[in-house]
Amino acid sequence: MENVPIPEIRPNDVLIKIKKSAICGTDLHIFKWDEWAQQTIKPPLIIGHEYMGIVVEVGSEVSRVKVGERVTVEGHISCGFCRNCRRGRQHICENTTSIGVHRDGGFAEYIAVPDKNVLHVDKRISDEIMAIMDPLGNAAHTALSFPLLGEDILITGIGGPIGSMAAAICRFAGARNVIGSDLNGFRRDIARNLGATYVIDPLKESIQSAMESHGMISGFDIGLECSGSPTAFNEMINHMYNGGKISLLGILPQKTQIDWNKVIFKGLTIKGIYGREMYETWYHMEMMLTTGLDISPVITHRLNADEFEKAFKIMEEGNCGKIILDWE
Ligand code: NAD
Ligand code: ZN
Repeated sequence: MENVPIPEIRPNDVLIKIKKSAICGTDLHIFKWDEWAQQTIKPPLIIGHEYMGIVVEVGSEVSRVKVGERVTVEGHISCGFCRNCRRGRQHICENTTSIGVHRDGGFAEYIAVPDKNVLHVDKRISDEIMAIMDPLGNAAHTALSFPLLGEDILITGIGGPIGSMAAAICRFAGARNVIGSDLNGFRRDIARNLGATYVIDPLKESIQSAMESHGMISGFDIGLECSGSPTAFNEMINHMYNGGKISLLGILPQKTQIDWNKVIFKGLTIKGIYGREMYETWYHMEMMLTTGLDISPVITHRLNADEFEKAFKIMEEGNCGKIILDWE
C-alpha cells in the first residue's frame, strides 16, 4: 500500500471515490506474483476490478454520468470498432483491456474510468452487493447461457464465489435439481446457503449416486464448469445427458484432456464464457436482484482496506466466499 496521486481524468472519463471493493481470485494470483501475473502485469499498477463508489468528477464530454451518483463499473473496456463490438458482442471484443490488470484498478481511494463503462443500479441494491456485480455477472452469464426451466443442472466448483452465485441464479430461474461438487467443506456450505439442491464432496461421493438419490436416470441437461479443474470437467462430460449443454467458465490448464467422443456421440454443446455480456448481463442482474434473488450469503468477510494483507491471507486459505474491503 502506498500513496499515489489522484488520477487525472480525460474528457470522456469519470472519477469515482471508491466506497467498497471485493477481492477476486485474479487479485490473489497477482498478490502471489505467480507465472501468469509476471507475464501479464506491468507494474507499477493499482490492481482490483470489483468495486463501487460515488462519482466525484466528470470529464468535459460526459453528460450521462453526474457528480454524486452511486455507480459501479464494467471492468472490460471494449474498443467499439471491431467486428464483434459493431455486431453487439462487446464481451468478445478483439481489443479488450481489463481494469485492474492492464490499467489502474479499484484497490485505491479513487479510480478514473471511461464513462461508457459506468453503471447506475437500482437503489434497492446495497453497496456491498453492488461491489460484487462483476463476479455475479460472470455467474449470470454462465448460468443464463441456456434455458434453465425444469432442467437438471450440474455445477462443478459450486462452492467458489462464481459457482455458488450461479447456483442461486439457477434456482431463481426455475431449474429443477441444482447439484454440485466442491473440494472445500466451508464452501460447500456457502453453496447450500445459496440454494443448491445438493452438494457433494467429490472425494467422498460420486455424481452418479447424487443423481440416483434425486431420481435422475440419464444425466444432466446443463453443466456449469466453475472450478477450472480438469478432473471436475471430465466428471461433468461423463454425466451429461445426450444433447446437454455446458457453459465453460473455469480456466482450465492448457493441455486439459477430455473424451471428445463423448462430446460428439452425446451431441453436447460447449460454450466458452468470458466476462459479462455488455450490457444485457447487467440488465439481468439488476432485474433479478430487485425481484428476489438473494446472494448475500456469498459475502463472508468484511474488512477495512488497511487490513488487505489479512484479507489476502483469508483468500489464500480458501475458507471464505467474497471478502469486502471498506475504503471509508
Ligand atoms: P475459485 O477458485 O474461488 O473457486 C473454484 C472452486 O472450485 C473452489 O471452491 C474449489 O474448491 C473448487 N474445485 C477445485 N477443484 C475441484 C474439483 N476437482 N471438483 C470440485 N470442485 C473443485 O474461483 P471463482 O472466483 O469462483 O471462479 C471460478 C473459475 O472461473 C476459476 O477457474 C476462475 O479462474 C474462472 N473465472 C473465469 C472468468 C471468465 O470470464 N471466464 C471470470 C472469472 C473467473
Ligand atoms: Zn471491439
